[in-house]
Amino acid sequence: MFGLSLTKLLLLAAVAAILWYGFKAVRRRDRRRAEAAQPPKSVPPATELMVKCSVCGTYNPSGVVCTHRP
Ligand SMILES: [Zn+2]
Repeated sequence: MFGLSLTKLLLLAAVAAILWYGFKAVRRRDRRRAEAAQPPKSVPPATELMVKCSVCGTYNPSGVVCTHRP
């Protein structure tokens, strides 16, 4: 009936299972590759010590000489 034999149904189920597990494996591999490409987020951002100029009052990164521009 319906033109489907038990063998065809089993073959269809096997193909569906292979596709399902194949897609799952590809998705897992892509996620692992994306995680490896991204830098770890636990590293804090680099901060710079700012020093106030005693002449004009502007803040400059330490080690940078102020040019006293307005
Ligand atoms: Zn200055």
